Amino acid sequence: MKKILVLNSGSSSLKYQLFETDGSAFRVIIKGLAERIGIDNSNISYQTENGTKETMNIPLENHEITLKAIFDILLKTSLSSIDELWAVGHRLGHGGEYFDKSVVIDDNVIEKIYETKDLLPLHGNAFILGIEAMKNLLPNIKQIATFDSAFHQTMPKEAYLYALPLEQYEKYRIRRYGFHGTSHYYVSKELLKIMPSAKKIISCHLGSGSSITAIKNGKSIDTSFGFAASCGVTMGTRCGDIDAFIPLYIMKTQNKTADEVNQMMNKESGLCALSGGYSDTRDIEKRYNEGDEKAIVAVNIYVHNIVKYIGAYTAEMGGVDAIIFTAGIGENSSFLRQKICDRLKFMGLDINQDANQLRSQFVELSTKDSKIKAFVIPTNEELVIAQDTYELCANA
Ligand code: AMP
Repeated sequence: MKKILVLNSGSSSLKYQLFETDGSAFRVIIKGLAERIGIDNSNISYQTENGTKETMNIPLENHEITLKAIFDILLKTSLSSIDELWAVGHRLGHGGEYFDKSVVIDDNVIEKIYETKDLLPLHGNAFILGIEAMKNLLPNIKQIATFDSAFHQTMPKEAYLYALPLEQYEKYRIRRYGFHGTSHYYVSKELLKIMPSAKKIISCHLGSGSSITAIKNGKSIDTSFGFAASCGVTMGTRCGDIDAFIPLYIMKTQNKTADEVNQMMNKESGLCALSGGYSDTRDIEKRYNEGDEKAIVAVNIYVHNIVKYIGAYTAEMGGVDAIIFTAGIGENSSFLRQKICDRLKFMGLDINQDANQLRSQFVELSTKDSKIKAFVIPTNEELVIAQDTYELCANA
């Protein structure tokens, strides 16, 4: 049995999961989250597979100290020695055009990750912090990187190239990259296990960040995130698609800096702005049902934009066999799924009301006679990372 630690590093948070595997079955032994790294009141929590939970308020000045705290938790609960760790898999936000699959991390890979760090305005180089910290603590452990953009590297040029002067792509690599790739890959693969005939799939990853992907013959051919993870459908606090001239106009006429506009578009927009301060769809749904005007407008815009992408991707693929809902909203919000599916009735989508009440589980929403199938498939990006880590390390 091999033990694989999967890390998802943010600038002030670090999620971790410890897997045990023989290469075919993957079991999560313990998982947890460190929050407020480098900020006051930091804390670290864990939950073991038998349900033991604990949250500790301890100072976590940086990612290396946080990793040491994670090691202490692993030693207390799951490992007799840290040498039992066989490999580490990291979630990376951006692989630029360098990576179309997971890779073993070496100096060359680290150099390329640094090259792409500015491409993610919300996350910057946060993902690399976990890699560097692990390298310092366990210099000989094998580390693997799985990239959120990798699955979308199959997009054709007409989907990824913007109509800007070609130099912007050729010299500066400005193009559509797409993100949430690990999630879109996982849920589409899970669907294909039970519906191998699904040649045209639309995967809707709807969470605090959201993206929609058109998957033809198992490959991503278009996706709603673009150069950055801010465009596409309306999100919790991100604006999604807006006219490209708006930020320029705001900067010019309101005397705002690029950083201020970035902050506005990514942290102060989306459902939060439209609903008057609510980015969680549970709050918005409640207010919608109470007749709150802003919540109603927010929901209508949210649904409108998702339906628009589903329509566009159906046209791009020349039809759709199945639609997948995943992530926090996609897996849990019967209310929003219902509203989206109602708008797709014209395409022959018919959903079962009882099935749509279920949450956080793999379920077929569509009725037997529905022309298009629809499913809720819980995503599991950490499992993909653990599986890729095993494959790459076992064959290294
Ligand atoms: P994620 O980014 O995938 O973790 O999704 C987080 C978002 O999912 C939250 O901000 C909520 O808007 C939404 N969410 C989580 N649980 C529920 C629920 N039970 N009903 C509706 N929305 C939910």
